Amino acid sequence: MTGELSRKKPIVNIVWFKKDLRSSDHKPLSEAASNEYPVLPLYVFEPDYWEQKDTSQRHWEFTKQSLESLRQDLGVMGQALVFLQGNILEVFDQLLKTFEINAIYAHQETGNAWTYARDISVRSWARLRGIKLIEYQNNTIIRGLTNRDIWSTERDNFLSKPTLKKPYIRPIDAELSEISTKMKFKGSTVLKNKQIGGSQNGWRYLESFLEGRGNHYRVEMSSPLLAERACSRISPYLAYGNLSVREIFQFLHENHPKIKQMSPSIKSFKSRLAWKDHFSQKLEDDFSIETTCLHKSFENLRPLVPDHILLSAWENGETGFPFLDACMRYLRATGWINFRMRAMLMSFASYHLWLDWRASGQILAKFFTDYDPGIHWPQVQMQSGTTGINTVRMYNPIKQGIDQDPNATFIRKWVPELGHLSTAEIHKVGTENFNAVNFETHYPRPVVDLAKAGREAREKVWAVRRLHGFKSQAKQIVKKHGSRQNRSKDFVNDRLEIKPKARVNIQKSFEF
Ligand SMILES: Cc1cc2nc3c(=O)[nH]c(=O)nc-3n(C[C@H](O)[C@H](O)[C@H](O)COP(=O)(O)OP(=O)(O)OC[C@H]3O[C@@H](n4cnc5c(N)ncnc54)[C@H](O)[C@@H]3O)c2cc1C
Repeated sequence: MTGELSRKKPIVNIVWFKKDLRSSDHKPLSEAASNEYPVLPLYVFEPDYWEQKDTSQRHWEFTKQSLESLRQDLGVMGQALVFLQGNILEVFDQLLKTFEINAIYAHQETGNAWTYARDISVRSWARLRGIKLIEYQNNTIIRGLTNRDIWSTERDNFLSKPTLKKPYIRPIDAELSEISTKMKFKGSTVLKNKQIGGSQNGWRYLESFLEGRGNHYRVEMSSPLLAERACSRISPYLAYGNLSVREIFQFLHENHPKIKQMSPSIKSFKSRLAWKDHFSQKLEDDFSIETTCLHKSFENLRPLVPDHILLSAWENGETGFPFLDACMRYLRATGWINFRMRAMLMSFASYHLWLDWRASGQILAKFFTDYDPGIHWPQVQMQSGTTGINTVRMYNPIKQGIDQDPNATFIRKWVPELGHLSTAEIHKVGTENFNAVNFETHYPRPVVDLAKAGREAREKVWAVRRLHGFKSQAKQIVKKHGSRQNRSKDFVNDRLEIKPKARVNIQKSFEF
């Protein structure tokens, strides 16, 4: 920081950016800019955060691009983003040497356990120093929600209020350091089809989705071959706050006449945005979802220390099940994969490989550029059957391969070891008939007997679900977290009622 250090320190408002890296529809920024003091827009690179097991280099790269874009935007608005590094409390202490802080403005964050604890420490730091820390609701997620029944109405109210325009920001006198770090990340970077951070890029994805890419969204979203193009791909832009959910809803509303022809797709798309909020609200209401089985009866069911060989085969796409391995390798290379395949990867690790969801969930978190704890951990638990309120749903990777990649195009691309086989042979790899197929390949043998592993997992999970007291705890979970709009799809007498028509290849509900 430079500037005239006169006896009287300049008074500033700090806007503390976290996973809300945008300049429009940003309440802390609008509020901070609305009073007489200049604004210091701040992002702090916190090395301790980036040491966490659910973070990775690909997250940082997206964050860095988002910060660069935000710096430019804010510069045009009056004061460019200030980038500092270190422990957040030490950084604030340092700033106090230069500035008098009128108030710190920030969004509430529904993040991982580390950010949750960090935010508590910032609150007490501010309280002890008599500094106002004003935290605003983030998107539609309500902190301290006491009644799930009202959440949906509150969400609608929030989304219908006008978005906040970019304010003019009164500048401070600050030297801008380069947005970079010397930190060595353990995880790898994205190699192919990289999505570049920043609000403008997020809007480009949304617009091209609405201008045609998404016309067949409902049907094409299930196949990894088609989903890359047919899905909106806005997930990282939402996860890092480059876009706000309200901006998207209002954009859809304003462009309704133009996008009317794709209304079934828009309906599905809007439901998914609602799922995002629905899941994030769960984590907001119960931060232990990241670390503890939602239904406590499942705690300790799987070994807490996962089988290292199985975990590593799964993580590296070397399980001997071609479609599953193709999906994992694609994810590792691109940082993204469609919902159905995420669910298959997760359920296979939790059921067939019988691995603890915390270990496999952390690996997926690192690989997803769009890692968003609010969606991720509730989904991880749902696909692992530990919520107690969702149907036990196991994906058979061979059947999924035949359904979603009938010509084995995707498998051939990502598992080239099998490139010399016919399509029929490829779809046999991993089945009981595998040994009967006479061919030479360096591809690994299946790490488990698929049918036997699936059967054993199902029996173990159902043994728990039949325990005395299981249902009463499940009902409590539904009361606290269950979707009100899709109530019939939550725990109802242990059965999920899906009408036959809903079973066509259209991804409609939370259940698959
Ligand atoms: C085990 C598992 C972990 C997941 N972890 C994440 C994660 O960390 N971050 C993340 O953004 N999504 C996660 N998802 C949800 C989903 O797979 C992705 O949101 C989606 O594939 C992103 O692509 P898209 O933006 O093209 O989605 P679209 O289909 O175009 O949907 C638009 C938006 O709706 C939300 N959304 C879509 N599907 C879901 C869903 N099933 N549940 C909740 N919200 C949804 C996302 O914000 C998404 O960007 C996970 C799913 C599973 C099964």
